[in-house]
This record gives sequence, structure tokens and C-alpha cells, in this order.
Amino acid sequence: MNELEEVPIALSGLTLEEIEAFVLSLGLPKFRARQIHTWIYVKYAGSFDEMTDLSKDVRDLLKLKATLSSLELAHLQVSDDGTRKYLFKLADGKLVESVLMSFEDRATYSACVSSQVGCAVGCTFCATGYLGFKRNLTSQEIIDQVLAIQRESGHRVANVVYMGQGEPLLNVDEVIKSLHTMINSVGIGARHITVSTSGIVPGIERLAQEDLQITLALSLHAPDSELREQIVPITRKWSVEDLMDALYEYYKKTGRRITIEYVLLAGVTDSAEQAKELAMLVKRLHCNINLIPYNPTEALDGTVLYKRPTLEAQRRFKRFAESTGKTVTIRLERGTDIDAACGQLHNAFENDQAS
Ligand code: SAH
Ligand code: SF4
Repeated sequence: MNELEEVPIALSGLTLEEIEAFVLSLGLPKFRARQIHTWIYVKYAGSFDEMTDLSKDVRDLLKLKATLSSLELAHLQVSDDGTRKYLFKLADGKLVESVLMSFEDRATYSACVSSQVGCAVGCTFCATGYLGFKRNLTSQEIIDQVLAIQRESGHRVANVVYMGQGEPLLNVDEVIKSLHTMINSVGIGARHITVSTSGIVPGIERLAQEDLQITLALSLHAPDSELREQIVPITRKWSVEDLMDALYEYYKKTGRRITIEYVLLAGVTDSAEQAKELAMLVKRLHCNINLIPYNPTEALDGTVLYKRPTLEAQRRFKRFAESTGKTVTIRLERGTDIDAACGQLHNAFENDQAS
């Protein structure tokens, strides 16, 4: 393609206002935008040809000037338990992962979306952390993961967790824009959306200002700053105490119970003493605790740095963590046979219960 040729614009994942601006730029009447928006968000159209209430001329014009999806399916893995793991190729060739999960006791589907390509935080147990940071995703690319999953699977997504690759609150503008689109255009109830953060205090404050009824999950992973610094390096910037203050404020502003995530690394974060410290630390916070048994991941040199605690150790930790009356859940595994983690697949089930 030479420089003078226009690059077609992808429409899936755009807001109604953005689609309106696009149709007006083509000289089409504004109401066409509403029709296209409905085909994308309600009817999961996979091509412009399916948009039968548009004339053939309009469809041909759209095919010339636009594409539907901003993502291309590069790879799909389906697990024995029905979990679908998607690898999507972005317009610039970079790759991101998303996951669709369902739970036997529920008829609903949950999507796990990525917010960045790679991640700069570099947690020592996380596959995405090993990749380093590549770039932020746009709101459109975040939304389009859910739409592409719905188009491919034919299932309606009811819950969305921002627990794929990347640190959502280091891409806070696009993530906040995507939250509004997720609620208003995709139609996911705010209470069915969870954003998980490694603890970016200014991002937590920004999100609080939006006053959305979403669930905020904090990846705490250690009850004190000294230990946390070793596994979540960003603790050097914001200590555990800073995080607790930010979470109290978040709760005050939104009235939404927080989810505290805690990864269990054998011999590192899983002692009874640490469970008691954790219970004391979050005692006054309106929160539930979700324990994540470590999912072994290889570092770039092929080494696996940690071990997953035994079931017995997991249960012991849970018992002690419950000592101040909080609800403590252990993560339910999905798609382990296909390594369904976006490096760190997580489930929406417990987070849903937190709302
Ligand atoms: N960057 C955000 C969101 C993505 S990670 C965050 O860190 O919160 C979603 C969750 O999975 C986080 O709690 C993360 O710490 C955890 N996780 C990452 N790698 C993991 C692994 N190998 N085993 C278990 N949990 C992991
Ligand atoms: Fe980034 Fe989250 Fe992985 Fe840490 S756990 S490296 S913040 S994606």
C-alpha cells in the first residue's frame, strides 16, 4: 500500500459517536451509524454483507473504506472444560491473549481481556511480566476482544474481567473509556466487570472518580511491603500502607466491596503466620479475599522460580485468613490443560460473589 492510499478503519469496538463521525465523513446520513452499531454490538455481525438493512451501495462503500474487526484470530485453543483461549493479532502485528470461560453451575460466560501488550510491572511469578512492556491497547482493541469472542463462539458474554495481559491502571485513560463502552454499548452490567490492578495508586484514585459500580481487585500477594517488594517490584513506589489508604478511599467514594487477590507461592507467601497478618491487615476494609494457587510459569531462561502449595497448605492458609470473619475463596481452575492463563488466567466466579 503506498502512502496516499487510505488505511481502512476498523469499526468493531468503536463508540456510537465514533461510528457517527465515520459515516458522516463518508457523506452518509447519521442514522446509518445506529444501524451499524446494532449489527456490531447486538447481532454480532461478522461481515458488512450481513447488514441487510443497509443498501448494497452502502455495504460496498463500507467494504472499501472500513473493516469490521480490529483483531484477527491468530490461534484458538479449546480446553476439555470448554474454556477457549484466543490469541489475537493486532493491526500492527502484535499479539494479545483473551479467554472465554464458563462455569458448570452457571449458564453464563466470562471473558478475560488484556489491557496492554506485555507489562512493565515485572512481577516475578508472571509470564506477562517476563515479556516486558510492548504497548498500550486502545479502548477499541479492549472492547473488540469481547466482540470477537462473541462472534467466534456465538455465546453472549455476561462477565468481563480485566485480568489478561498488562496492568490496566498503567493504561488508565483507554481502560476507563473501554469501561464506559463495555457498559453502554456491549451491555455488560457494571457489577459484572472486574478490573484487577497490581496497585497503581494514582490509577485507583482516577478510577474512584468515575464512580462506577464495577469491582476493583487488588493483587496484594503479600501482607507486608518488604516481602511484596520482592515479588511485585512496584511496591517500591507505593507501599502496602499506601495501597490500603487508596482502597479505603475507593470504598468511601464508590461503596463497592474490594477483592483482595493473594497468590500462594509455596514457602514464600503461604505460611499460617502470613495468613494471620493478611487477615489483620485487611480487617477494617470492606473486602473479600481470593487466594490464587500459583500456576507454574517458565521464565525466559526456562526456569520455574516458585512452587504451587499443596492443597493442604492452601486450605490451612484459607482457615487462618478467615480468622477476622472475611469471606475467603480459593480460585477455581479453568482450562489448565491448555494453560489458559493469560499468563495468569483468573476466574470471575469469586469476584462475582464479591458484588
Ligand atoms: N496486571 C493486573 C491484572 C492481570 S493479572 C494484576 O496484576 O492485577 C490477574 C491476576 O493473576 C493477578 O492477581 C496476578 O498477580 C495473577 N497471576 C499472574 N501470574 C500468575 C501465576 N503464574 N499464577 C497465579 N496467579 C498469577
Ligand atoms: Fe503485570 Fe499483573 Fe503480570 Fe504483575 S501480575 S507482571 S502487574 S500482568
